[in-house]
Amino acid sequence: MTQEKTIQKSVSFRGVGLHTGKMIHLRLIPAEKGEGIVFVRKDMGYAMIPADPAHVIPSQFSTIIEAEGATVQTVEHLLAAVSALGIDNLRIELDGPEIPAMDGSAAPFIQLLLEAGTVEQSKSRSFIEILKPIRVSEQDKSITVRPGSSFEISLKIDFDHAVISKQSYRYFHSQSAFIEEIASARTFGFLKDIEALKAQGLAMGGSLDNAVVIGKDTVLNAQGLRFPDEFVRHKVLDLIGDISLLGMPILGRIEANCSGHKLHAELIQEIMKNKKAWRIVNAASCYKKRTPVYTRPIFQTIAATA
Ligand SMILES: [Zn+2]
Repeated sequence: MTQEKTIQKSVSFRGVGLHTGKMIHLRLIPAEKGEGIVFVRKDMGYAMIPADPAHVIPSQFSTIIEAEGATVQTVEHLLAAVSALGIDNLRIELDGPEIPAMDGSAAPFIQLLLEAGTVEQSKSRSFIEILKPIRVSEQDKSITVRPGSSFEISLKIDFDHAVISKQSYRYFHSQSAFIEEIASARTFGFLKDIEALKAQGLAMGGSLDNAVVIGKDTVLNAQGLRFPDEFVRHKVLDLIGDISLLGMPILGRIEANCSGHKLHAELIQEIMKNKKAWRIVNAASCYKKRTPVYTRPIFQTIAATA
């Protein structure tokens, strides 16, 4: 639990990108300790795009990262699964500009990563411990990260549509909580917006197989919803994926009101600017101060001893 992790063996899969509509082949490959999460565009001379704050491009409909003139779009659901399983180092090789949508959730990625297995590496994990609140806002949207003894998210959404309306969710991070409560919540969109998105060249691969589509007063997917509050759970999933672009796990409580990818990217930049509002803590040095038996989750243990 205190050590960095990668996957045990490579796994491959393919699927259609939600926005580009392109068939993309992906390979998840084990990476060395300290390497971090790196996307590799095989079709662009193996351009390497690290999943870190320096490479995030603010975007409204999905999260995009860029380096060496190459981009990767819609990284958030895969990154949420990677971070929820505590994987620190991973090479993600792909032959196109977008991560496949799969079923619109993170569940297929969790399945692939569990199939690959994880392995601890000989480097202890580092965390970003929040010391002072950091806030970003835009009109009625806001997001604040505060000091806390674990990684928690309180998220509220308020849509002017009867199918969604107001929903809130409180999430206490652990691998099992992510898998059981969040991973299978799908992305969603309104039928009335889909034509407009397609006119902008977005949602080209979108269908009832990879998104919840909301009509005038009902969900159009024949099977209905996976959770009564699937919408807000998916927003938690997006936030977990986006915030992982900090490059290391966070120790703090996030409160989000109607936030989206763009504001998440702004929060990352704001955290990077406010260097006195956080510090990096190392799991190994924290653990040395304690008795040899640890039954509490890593986040609580570190917070108690940092
Ligand atoms: Zn999403």
